[in-house]
Amino acid sequence: MFRSVVKSASLFLLAFFVSALPARAVSLESLTDSEKQLRISIFNKVDPVLAKKKEKGTAPLFTYRQFYAPLNKKERAFLDEIRAVDPDKIEGASRPLPPPAPDTEFVPLGKQVTIRDGKSIKLDPQYLPRAVYDAYQAMMAAMEKEIGKRLLVESGYRSPAYQLYLFLFYMPKHDFSIRETNRHVALPGCSEHGSPARQAIDFITPGGINGEDHPEEFEALEEYRWLQRRAKSFGFYLSYPRGGKSAFEPWHWHYEQ
Ligand SMILES: [Zn+2]
Repeated sequence: MFRSVVKSASLFLLAFFVSALPARAVSLESLTDSEKQLRISIFNKVDPVLAKKKEKGTAPLFTYRQFYAPLNKKERAFLDEIRAVDPDKIEGASRPLPPPAPDTEFVPLGKQVTIRDGKSIKLDPQYLPRAVYDAYQAMMAAMEKEIGKRLLVESGYRSPAYQLYLFLFYMPKHDFSIRETNRHVALPGCSEHGSPARQAIDFITPGGINGEDHPEEFEALEEYRWLQRRAKSFGFYLSYPRGGKSAFEPWHWHYEQ
């Protein structure tokens, strides 16, 4: 009798502790207040690390090791939960894509100048895998010859770790919802920007049009119409057309060999 009382008491205690543990899966609908706090503390620790990499121009090559290094156990666990989100459980175009092979050669784009808020600015340094870099250069040479215009690379390769950072960064814009953010920013490991096998480029004009807030501005460009006609002959394809599962992104083209 005594034994079974002890047994049921410990079962009760066990059930109590298990129910008191935080849920292991992050909510897809909206972050909890404590998850929002974790997000802020992660940025406070990681932003200085990333700022140094930005100074050196190597932010797109940010690694998970560098991301996790300044964080505590709880913060790391929170990142793990985001990385464990199953893209099949949410609508949107996110699908796991192969990461870069360890020997991938990333070519820096060099200085790119555009206009922002009426001022001439230098774009953050960008990288493309060798094959994609060569295809991009060939395509721009043809565009220049045929319509006298070129497009710049606003965003080329970015590592899965950098993608995770951006995903977290953009969450407030989408009500802290993973489901909603995923309609605009791919989950880490699912972005064409992080997978040389399907490497994406986000284009911007030298005049500063990138379509980010107004896709129709990019859609109206002569450069866009040229891409629609000619990009495929250089191996580039529009990833998110109008009416798809993800938001329309006329500036985002991926490469396929
Ligand atoms: Zn993109």
